Amino acid sequence: MRSSKKYVDGTLRKYHLTANKALGQNFLVSQNITDKIVENSGISKKSIVIEIGPGLGALTEACVKIAKQVIAIEIDKNMCNILQEEFKDALNLTIIHQDFLKMDLNQLFTFDICLSPITIISNLPYYITSQILTKIIYGNYPIQNLIVMMQKEVANKLIHPTLKEYGPLHIILEYKYKITTITHVSKNDYLPRPEIDSMVLRIERKKPKYQINDELKFFQIVKDLFKMRRKTIANHLTHYFSDKNEAILFLNRLNISADSRAEQLDLEKFIQIAKELGA
Ligand code: SAM
Repeated sequence: MRSSKKYVDGTLRKYHLTANKALGQNFLVSQNITDKIVENSGISKKSIVIEIGPGLGALTEACVKIAKQVIAIEIDKNMCNILQEEFKDALNLTIIHQDFLKMDLNQLFTFDICLSPITIISNLPYYITSQILTKIIYGNYPIQNLIVMMQKEVANKLIHPTLKEYGPLHIILEYKYKITTITHVSKNDYLPRPEIDSMVLRIERKKPKYQINDELKFFQIVKDLFKMRRKTIANHLTHYFSDKNEAILFLNRLNISADSRAEQLDLEKFIQIAKELGA
C-alpha cells in the first residue's frame, strides 16, 4: 500500500530523499481517501488515465490496477526513478518526466488515446493548481472527467465564487462540466502535513445545454470580456465592431446593458454574445 505513512517514510529513506516543498510534494498517506477517490472516479478497464504529479504513486497504484493504461507526468526526476523501480511490473504504466505546464498536450491526446474514455487524475501541486486547471479546461481536450484534489479554499472558490472571484473559468465550467465533491481530506492525511485541509472534486463533462459551433472561439470571447474587469462590456466589444456605438446597438439588441461588466453576466448572456460574434 503506497498510500501510507509507512510507505512514504520508508521509500524516502530508502532513496535518501526528502519531500521537495518547492514542488508541492505533500504525499497522500490515507488508503481510505485513495479508495474513495478511485471508487468515485468513473475509471474502468477501458479507461486511459493521465495522472499529473504521481509522486511516490499513491493514486498511481490504484489506477494501474483498474485502467487500461496510465500515463503519469512528473516533473521530479527522483520521483520518476523511484516509480520506474517500484512499478516495474506495471506494464500499463508510462512515466513521463516533464513539467506538465510546459507540455504540448496535443502530442499527448493522440488519435489512439482519444478512442478510449480519458480521465485526468491529480493530487494537484498546490502552487500551480489554477494554472493546471486552466490549461486543461481552456484547451478543450477530449477528456471525460477530471478528478482533482486541491486546497479547500481553492475548491470552494471554484464551486461558489464571490462576484470578485467569478471569472472565465467558471463560465466555461458551467457550460461544459458538472462539478461534484467526492470527499474532504484532512491535512493529517498528507506527509509532510500541509497548513490546510483539501477537497477532491469530480469535474465531469456534460452535454452542453447551449449549442456552440466553435467552442474555442467562445472560450476566447469569454476570456477577452473578463480582461480588465473594470472595463464595460461595450468598451470590450468595441474591437469587434467599427466603433463603440455599434457595440452599444449590438448589446441593446441582446437586452444587455452597455454599462455592465463581465462579472454581471450569466452563462446565457455570454452564449448570446458569442453566437452573434460567430462562435
Ligand atoms: N500524487 C502523489 C500523492 O498523491 O501522494 C503526489 C502529489 S504531490 C501534492 C504533487 C506532485 O506533483 C509531486 O510529486 C510533484 O513533484 C509533482 N509536480 C509538481 N509540479 C509539477 C509539474 N509542473 N508537472 C508535473 N508534476 C509536478
